[in-house]
Amino acid sequence: MRVTVPLGLKKNYTAIVSELTEKDINNDIQYKEIKDILDTTPIANNTQLRFWQWMAEYYMCSEGEIYRAAIPAGLKPDTKHYGYKPKTEIRIRIAQQYQNEQELQKALNSLKKAPAQQQLLLNIIYLTTQDYKQFDDIKRAQLLNARQNSATTLNTLIEKGFIVAFEQQVSRIENNNTKKYDESKENINLSEHQQAAYDTINKLWQTKNVVLLHGVTSSGKTEIYSQIIKDVINSDGQVLFLVPEIALTTQLTERMKKILGENLGIYHSGFSDEERVEVYRKQLSDNPFKVIMGARSAIFLPMTQLKLVIVDEEHESSYKQQNPAPRYHARNAAIMLAQIANAKVLLGSATPAVETYYNATIGKYGLVTLTHRYGDVQMPDIEIIDIKECRRKKMYDGPFMDPLTDKIKHTLNENKQVILFQNRRGLAHYITCEDCAVSPTCPNCEVSLTPHIIRGNKFLSCHYCGYSTGMPDKCPECGSIKLTTTGIGTEKVQQETQKLFNGARVARLDTDTTRRKNAHQHIISDFAQHNSDILIGTQMVSKGLDFNNVALVAVLNADSLLTLPDFRSTERAYQLLEQVSGRAGRRQQQGTVIIQTYNTQHPIMQWVKEHDYLSFYNYTIKERQLLRYPPFVRMYTIVFKHKEKDIALHAAQYAQQILAKYFPQETSNVTEPLVSRIMNIYYQTIVLRIDNKVNIHQTRQIINYAIQQTTAQNMFKTVQFYVEID
Ligand code: ADP
Ligand code: ZN
Ligand code: ZN
Repeated sequence: MRVTVPLGLKKNYTAIVSELTEKDINNDIQYKEIKDILDTTPIANNTQLRFWQWMAEYYMCSEGEIYRAAIPAGLKPDTKHYGYKPKTEIRIRIAQQYQNEQELQKALNSLKKAPAQQQLLLNIIYLTTQDYKQFDDIKRAQLLNARQNSATTLNTLIEKGFIVAFEQQVSRIENNNTKKYDESKENINLSEHQQAAYDTINKLWQTKNVVLLHGVTSSGKTEIYSQIIKDVINSDGQVLFLVPEIALTTQLTERMKKILGENLGIYHSGFSDEERVEVYRKQLSDNPFKVIMGARSAIFLPMTQLKLVIVDEEHESSYKQQNPAPRYHARNAAIMLAQIANAKVLLGSATPAVETYYNATIGKYGLVTLTHRYGDVQMPDIEIIDIKECRRKKMYDGPFMDPLTDKIKHTLNENKQVILFQNRRGLAHYITCEDCAVSPTCPNCEVSLTPHIIRGNKFLSCHYCGYSTGMPDKCPECGSIKLTTTGIGTEKVQQETQKLFNGARVARLDTDTTRRKNAHQHIISDFAQHNSDILIGTQMVSKGLDFNNVALVAVLNADSLLTLPDFRSTERAYQLLEQVSGRAGRRQQQGTVIIQTYNTQHPIMQWVKEHDYLSFYNYTIKERQLLRYPPFVRMYTIVFKHKEKDIALHAAQYAQQILAKYFPQETSNVTEPLVSRIMNIYYQTIVLRIDNKVNIHQTRQIINYAIQQTTAQNMFKTVQFYVEID
């Protein structure tokens, strides 16, 4: 349970009491009295507490930071949201003394001269009882929804004592999920390949805690998960089903609701805090959800009977929390959670993370492979188009090389749908002055501003801090009017598409079109119902979508994916291209994928063309070993931030010298990150790459020591820092 303790004059601190003891009382310490006990029943169970302690240590943050992430704000006394209010509704029932046929007849007769009242009373009788024996109640709002029923008439009936109104507490989280779980109902018939995979998974779990299900896109991994989840429910266990971004998985959520009915609870950051409080409390109660499907934060929920953790699309980078602390990876943390809770883990992906696949090849994880699509539909056919050559031959129109244009026209003529992938949003990447080569940058961040257009108005916006300003008509540096744009984003693609494929209905899916609540669902379901023909989008269109009429997927420019300065950039590019391709031709007919690139010779093009994960993996794992990157080393990035550049830099240099004494080979020089200033804060980093065999406690101690020594210096007292693990 949580207690508050006064420290200093004004501050109250919250702490969780995990154990009571009289053993270790130290008389030299002046203990403070506990001011309040906030809970009447425990707020967390032992598994959670152990998990949180592990997390704080592994991800190098405080247990308080874990608590902050784990407990919904409505349950925290130190936040402005504290004071969770239950949701209530007003319900109507027939008054006690009228709850039989004769009395009701009398009541109705007495209303002969007031037909509206009589009608409403009849209506209520009709809705709340069948044969005058059992009397039920009904939601007031539901009654008043019918047009003929007025609130005034209802109030008169209440005044006359025929009916009563009362307030009742209702759940925010169970309302829309009343479908009963029925073992026999929503049957799952696994195909032969699926059944074999299912059997192998169960067999592997006899000897391994973690199994990787490597199944090509559309191999039907969801059905296998469903069968395994049902098994766990039927033996009274609980399941944690992690998905990358719940907002992007409406199709999967609907499927799961159908199969699991009232057993399914959903949890993610898009929920209101009240909803999160209710899910959290329900999981602590005697009647918890058996299955929680959620984004990464769902790993913090209480589960007393956890038997299985599924991590769908385990390679997804959105499992990594960037900000604030704890900066954890939910897949890795979930594996630890399962170990503490004595549960099994199933990781699923068509393009497993290199680290995960490595663990499978060395036997740490079990491995199950599905190479067939469900229904034996062929994997999509991949065509690589050379942008350089098309441009040389003038065979292009805007971002569309002629072979792609032809293919799109052909696809639309067949009444099939098209997905176009472009990795950037906005109109262009940035604008440049032709005379002085200057690009307008954000006043707060070290990045170029991105041109956008809304309802005909052009403006420049910063993708890091949200700053925006009108589009300049001349260069702010030299006054020249020769401003050109470089690169293109989804908005421009939309304009060009509308121009080139006149008459096609075009929709766009990116951060800008999905700001409003539910906008994302609308765009997806519209496209699923074929209310649009072409869907343009950023990486959002690559995520787990299952449309049956998409015959063509095109990547307009694969090159921007290949040049990110990150040791994972090849991996990310391969995963993205393979996942985007996986949206084509998922049912019945084989689909086509067209990839436009300047780098036709890049090995990645061959891997994607052949859907050859293993070649990708073998190449990448050798590279990682040669260049000493994970999984062969542990990587720590220590980030220093300050509003003065020199202070951040000098602090980092100071710490670097200490670290280099202990880890001379493993410590990098101080470097600026790609974006070195965000919202007027300067960033400097040091990277440590340390052999896996080195004890992690020792490494952490040294890092902490270096940071402490640095921030103990007077000039660095205000420097902030954090550590990114793995
Ligand atoms: P994955 O997650 O592996 O990409 P899905 O689980 O989305 O693949 O399955 C692809 C398609 O095949 C979906 O439309 C799904 O409904 C269908 N499907 C898969 N397995 C079965 C099955 N056993 N019975 C009926 N339909 C299935
Ligand atoms: Zn200029
Ligand atoms: Zn900015």
